[in-house]
Amino acid sequence: MSAPAFGPELMARLDELGRISGDQDRLNRQPFTPAHHAAIDRVAAWMQEAGMATRVDPIGNLIGRYQGLDSAAPVLLIGSHIDSVVDAGRYDGPLGILTGVAAVQALHDAGVHLPFAVDVVAFCDEEGVRFPTTFLGSKAICGTLDPAVLELRDKEGISVAQALTAFGGDPARLAEAAYAPGSIRAFLEVHIEQGPLLEAEERPLGIVTAIQGQSRLAVVLDGMAGHAGTVPMAHRRDALAGAAEAILAVERRCAASPDLVGTVGRIDAQPGAVNVIPGRAMFTLDVRAPNDTLRKAAVDEIVQTIQRIAASRGLGCTIGREHDQPATSCAPRVQRWLAQALRGEGVPVKYLSSGAGHDTMAMAEFCPAGMLFVRCKAGISHNPLESIAVEDADAAVRVVLRVLHDLAQPEASR
Ligand SMILES: [Zn+2]
Repeated sequence: MSAPAFGPELMARLDELGRISGDQDRLNRQPFTPAHHAAIDRVAAWMQEAGMATRVDPIGNLIGRYQGLDSAAPVLLIGSHIDSVVDAGRYDGPLGILTGVAAVQALHDAGVHLPFAVDVVAFCDEEGVRFPTTFLGSKAICGTLDPAVLELRDKEGISVAQALTAFGGDPARLAEAAYAPGSIRAFLEVHIEQGPLLEAEERPLGIVTAIQGQSRLAVVLDGMAGHAGTVPMAHRRDALAGAAEAILAVERRCAASPDLVGTVGRIDAQPGAVNVIPGRAMFTLDVRAPNDTLRKAAVDEIVQTIQRIAASRGLGCTIGREHDQPATSCAPRVQRWLAQALRGEGVPVKYLSSGAGHDTMAMAEFCPAGMLFVRCKAGISHNPLESIAVEDADAAVRVVLRVLHDLAQPEASR
């Protein structure tokens, strides 16, 4: 195998960008902060080196345009988010931006312009850590951002509109961030997998078929509080013991179906004393699947099981459905382009779904959208231990570059 042409520089840039943080000793890059500004300044310089004209749109997305031969042709949009979680890794988000920059740099170095323009975008906010909302940047580009989110506030009481204005954006011109319908040929996001499948199967890259849908429920079980010493076991209505049985039932049901995952992430018992039988237990439930029918059927079944467990223990049971997010299918044509490019680069084709949300979910409502996953060490993400191999980063750039070249062919599928 020849030496990786693009990998080392891409990794060095990811390292450099990973040092631009709002905190001294960890990566924390929240939207509309000085760290965000410094990061897009750095990326804009790289975009300009790659022959792109750069701009920051009214919501704070950085966009670099590599001009096409036909200025009327719909553009190919490549990108991901520049914001991070607190104490983040350096690849989640920036990989998708800098892979796009690297592919365009290769075109520029070769003096090649494609029939269509390529826009590389650094979305302002995907993680939703600072404000109680996500996808500010990608939704603005699609024209689907509800202006009401401008009034949402961070924990310091600063609204999105205030933070954006201080950043140099313009809440009043939000609508100008939207691309015209039909003006984006497709959106492509390269992202670390954030899961262990590619590594386990020794595949460097994977084509995402769908982003999982998600149901969130809140369960409350009501029993009877009582003295831990005086109430005999047979006379108890212990809400927490009922919750424990229910949680194991959730685990069993979700483990029985390979495409399903279910998590109880929070539990609370009241009154919460060492010598009192819990009279009330509350827990959350998060169920995800790439297929909405499968997810809904599983949730219905889990709800019935919990109700049965509660009834058998004499517990009251209230189950609230808090959130229902349908699965997002990645565009078949983008999956085809990626598969062709993987084969062209001699990389085995592997398909998988995404358990995490991504900007692609917002983009898919507006244009054909797809994702390429890059293997990451032990599936770790949202953690400074995030790690990818230079060879895999290199392969991702080669695949994106090949997609660009393939799409430039007159007979390219549309
Ligand atoms: Zn991400």
